[in-house]
Amino acid sequence: MYNLEQVRQDFPILSREVYKRPLVYLDNGATTQKPRVVVDSMVNEYYSVNANVHRGVHFLSQQATELHEGSRETVRRFLNARSINEVIFTRGTTESLNLLAYSFGEAFLNQGDEVIVSAMEHHSNIVPWQLLADRKGIVLRVIPMNDKGELLQEEYHNLFNERTKLVSVAHVSNVLGTINPVKEMIAYAHAQGVPVAVDGAQSTPHMAVDVQDLDADFFAFSGHKIYGPTGVGVLYGKEELLEKMPPYQGGGEMIQRVSFEKTTYNHLPFKFEAGTPDYIATTGLANALDYVTALGMDQIFAHEQELTRYAMEQMLAIPDMHIYGQAAHKDAVISFNVGNIHHLDMGTLLDRLGIAVRTGHHCAEPLMHRLGIEGTVRASFGLYNTKEEVDVLVAGINRVRNMF
Ligand code: PLP
Repeated sequence: MYNLEQVRQDFPILSREVYKRPLVYLDNGATTQKPRVVVDSMVNEYYSVNANVHRGVHFLSQQATELHEGSRETVRRFLNARSINEVIFTRGTTESLNLLAYSFGEAFLNQGDEVIVSAMEHHSNIVPWQLLADRKGIVLRVIPMNDKGELLQEEYHNLFNERTKLVSVAHVSNVLGTINPVKEMIAYAHAQGVPVAVDGAQSTPHMAVDVQDLDADFFAFSGHKIYGPTGVGVLYGKEELLEKMPPYQGGGEMIQRVSFEKTTYNHLPFKFEAGTPDYIATTGLANALDYVTALGMDQIFAHEQELTRYAMEQMLAIPDMHIYGQAAHKDAVISFNVGNIHHLDMGTLLDRLGIAVRTGHHCAEPLMHRLGIEGTVRASFGLYNTKEEVDVLVAGINRVRNMF
């Protein structure tokens, strides 16, 4: 296990106060705080390297290109992708999934074809498919879940038919914390000849991911949720599928030759990367991935599992506590309501105690409908959170409860 106190020193923001109380940051599902190495790497690049990447003849441009492409190799290693051609830089999970829906949709989907998603998807793994449904008349099928927040595997199997062309499912639910058995779900889909996309926004920050071991056909994640900068993310895709898919956006970088008569497109991964990439953010992302890798993804997972177990035990003992998501395999996310205290009131009062949690529907309105609620309070842990912070949260919830 890494030294927690030492690790917390790497994150300057963790030592600040809000309302004259020590900050207890439990909104890691929304975004994580940044270690100094990440921010420093970006500042250094701006101050000493900055130049637009690719095709530049001058020294700085070549150095910036080396850094940017080196970051792609870092992502490849992190995901254990076969090739850097399979690593497409995007603005984040949302853009990755929109790219996928558009381009996969253009290449492979026709009127009446079906895409399977799950009841616990984030809007960014629902709405891009609905946009495609409007454009192409595809049909969305939804894997239901039980009351613990586990996807029903038999029902999942029953959704497949000859029109099923893709499964797109969250690795970890941002509301329930459920760790979905994506490896098994992928194996099942492959046995039916159907590829699978995994939304890894909430898994990559917490556990080791190996896209070859999962045999995922596509995998999306966001830099800012894994201690990296905002505005950068990744779409991994198997090369043989990406090769068959058309560009998502047009512009510089993604072309080979342009004429008014005929334009040809660049090879992978650049075919999908129109315009100047955020090459400073890719440096930050690579440093974030190196940072968590050095701590050890398995150590991070073990620490957060212990925190979650500790928090669940204490929170379940609070009278009138309702926790949404009690799957056997659960990640570091706890969504709850207490009695009939509105989630917004709970969140606002916890905030006054220095505790940052998220409230609302968490961009998963269909899941809220399934649960029959409007919203929850959500505490989500990161690699730097401590048991003492869980104690502060539990004391805070009890205090708010006593006020009502
Ligand atoms: N998918 C899941 C499961 C998420 O939790 C989130 C963000 O909360 C997203 C997708 C979208 O990520 P981003 O806003 O970074 O694009």
